[in-house]
Amino acid sequence: MIDHHIHLGKDALTGFSLSEEMVTKRLDKFHLGGAVVFSCPNISYTNENPYSKNNKKVYKSSIDEKKFIPFMFVHPLLDRFGYIEREQEKFKGFKFYPRAVSMEYHYKDISNRRIIDLVSESSKPAVFHTGFREGSRIKDLVWMMKRKKSPLVFVHSGDLIERDLKIASKYENVFIDISPLATMISKNFFINSNRRHPNLKILTPKNILSHLKNLFGIERIVWGSDSPWCDNLINEGYNEEIKISRVMDKEGFNKSYLDF
Ligand SMILES: [Zn+2]
Repeated sequence: MIDHHIHLGKDALTGFSLSEEMVTKRLDKFHLGGAVVFSCPNISYTNENPYSKNNKKVYKSSIDEKKFIPFMFVHPLLDRFGYIEREQEKFKGFKFYPRAVSMEYHYKDISNRRIIDLVSESSKPAVFHTGFREGSRIKDLVWMMKRKKSPLVFVHSGDLIERDLKIASKYENVFIDISPLATMISKNFFINSNRRHPNLKILTPKNILSHLKNLFGIERIVWGSDSPWCDNLINEGYNEEIKISRVMDKEGFNKSYLDF
């Protein structure tokens, strides 16, 4: 099993942080095969290549620790095209987050950027934060689903908005990252039940996994912890997320978009 969702370093908004050493320890302790690692989203604002420092650290950590799979954090409006073009070779994929403090954007407003052309045409996976807010919903990325042929990953189960999941399920290269499932259930983070499928009236890991499996098939659902968020939002957060991974392992959800 691979942890598909880990933020390294410190987040400036929440103060949450995670060290490489801690991740390495956990990979050993829980016998995980690897970890997709990227920057924290909230960092001090710079109007050009805001994530360059953090991306560098993430890349360096992947040289020290072979089980780390580094993804490049991209800001499609503030990053220079040349920077992404030059540095992307070092990374195994791309990560987008449209709600970082003072760097917010709407997914519909980025489709004409050259950086997006590069990401769409790349054979590497692109991971998009998704949630219920306008501008960061799965439905705001329909244009991307039409363009990109390699793995396109929607995080946090798209907040379980049924309408959005249904649209995404039609595209064979779309994957759902369910992180941090235990945390989101426990904190009541998912969308109101009237926008979820009737099968999801009661939210349990089993119900959610079985519903997502109906829509996407077992090979397009991936596990991730969203550490350090899980660690800070609920008690024993990583252990709770690991329990989800064990359930998934048992039921055969052990695929990765990295194999595609
Ligand atoms: Zn995250």
